[in-house]
Amino acid sequence: MWRSRLVLALAGFGLPLAAAATPQCPFEPVSAHVWVLHGSNAATCPRAAAHPATNIGAVVTGAGVVLIDPGGSDEITRLVLDRLADVTGEPVVAVINTHIHGPYWLGNAAVRARFPGVPIIAHSRMIARLAAGEARAWAATLDPDAPPDVVGPDTPLGGEATLTVGEVQLRLHPLEHAHTDNDLLVEVPAEGVLFLGGLVVEPELPSQGVPEDADFAGQIRAIGAVIEMQANHYVPGRGTTGGKALPRRAAAFLQALYDSVGRYYDAGLTDFEMVPRLRDDLVRFRQWYDFTALGRVVAFLYLQIEAERF
Ligand SMILES: [Zn+2]
Repeated sequence: MWRSRLVLALAGFGLPLAAAATPQCPFEPVSAHVWVLHGSNAATCPRAAAHPATNIGAVVTGAGVVLIDPGGSDEITRLVLDRLADVTGEPVVAVINTHIHGPYWLGNAAVRARFPGVPIIAHSRMIARLAAGEARAWAATLDPDAPPDVVGPDTPLGGEATLTVGEVQLRLHPLEHAHTDNDLLVEVPAEGVLFLGGLVVEPELPSQGVPEDADFAGQIRAIGAVIEMQANHYVPGRGTTGGKALPRRAAAFLQALYDSVGRYYDAGLTDFEMVPRLRDDLVRFRQWYDFTALGRVVAFLYLQIEAERF
């Protein structure tokens, strides 16, 4: 109703009606204060140079916006901020990076450019690893010839914390080693919302992007813990926001993979030999992975199971 009156008012001033059309990559409401831009949804956010590969969260309060995982480049994050301005006039007052993988945070600089001095919160191990050289390595993924200066997080979190902004309380949960050793979950308890970062992503094999960063047993435990939490809106790092079925699917997939690799390890197969058999074992998940990614993940999972058996 409100929207149709706005369209009429705009038309009255001679502006094109198209001005009221939904833009590409919109933020969509999830709960009273939470919005998500589903960057990985090609239907609402078509593939293009500035297309975010990940989901971006916004907790919009009367005292400003907390932006969760702002995107992976200046260009992408400028688009994110433009779309944010479509749903609120509030400024960004805090940024949260859920983990070290570049597509989630390399756009920090664009947020700082528009909102100077905004604090950027992350797991303390993410900040330590970036300082030890990984910031430059991730920057090189944007521009291998002349790595740009990147803006990493500046506000380390070593334990559970509460962040209160205006009328909304956020709970921040730094995890033990799971998808990475620096995963940070963000919860809006009053609204049953949980941002999962890279812990759960769809439709793909868990941790296929950088399998060397994952502790697969830890990831299974962490997903089990989020299923037990009082949440009903789970926001994955990629894929569509959903209920408890979302982390349950990820847990089932990862557990099936883990169990099969363990069984073939005990039978004396090499990681290379077991991959074709896994394809049959995991047939009910076949739409979620490709063979190359499976081989890469199994190479690391095999080493972790080997270490566990000793
Ligand atoms: Zn990741």
